[in-house]
Amino acid sequence: MKAALVTCMCNHCSGKLEFDAANFDPANPAVIQCPHCALDTTLYIPHVARLEPVMQPPVMPPSLPLERYITQTEPIAIARLETGRKTSMGGLAMELIGFVLLFLFPVGTIFGIAFMIAGFKASKILRCSHCGNRVEDEHVRICPSCQARVNTFR
Ligand SMILES: [Zn+2]
Ligand SMILES: [Zn+2]
Repeated sequence: MKAALVTCMCNHCSGKLEFDAANFDPANPAVIQCPHCALDTTLYIPHVARLEPVMQPPVMPPSLPLERYITQTEPIAIARLETGRKTSMGGLAMELIGFVLLFLFPVGTIFGIAFMIAGFKASKILRCSHCGNRVEDEHVRICPSCQARVNTFR
């Protein structure tokens, strides 16, 4: 039952009487003692009843609790591919050969560069930053060891 306060005037002193219209029975109007003149007065609904609007809190759309979002989204580990160098004798030897060949201009230089690149690639490894295990393919999307999602933005 929401309060609908109306204001009528005392039958005797015209003092303002505020009462709840929701409890008002027009067929059997309440008789109260006027707080102003202490005489009995009959309550009535004035012709221009100014019903005070009862402020209702705005109905918010039901929002999902935050916990549901958290449980819905599986925690995905994001890993990066880290480049490291393994101790590869073959790669190291190729780099050394390439370095020496660099001085045998011009053909040696070309081969030297090729050797050095090949040697560098042979000794280069990719590691998952999440689990630290080696990743063979640099285009891998999911770490084969820990299933972490590999962030290819490097
Ligand atoms: Zn009165
Ligand atoms: Zn991993």
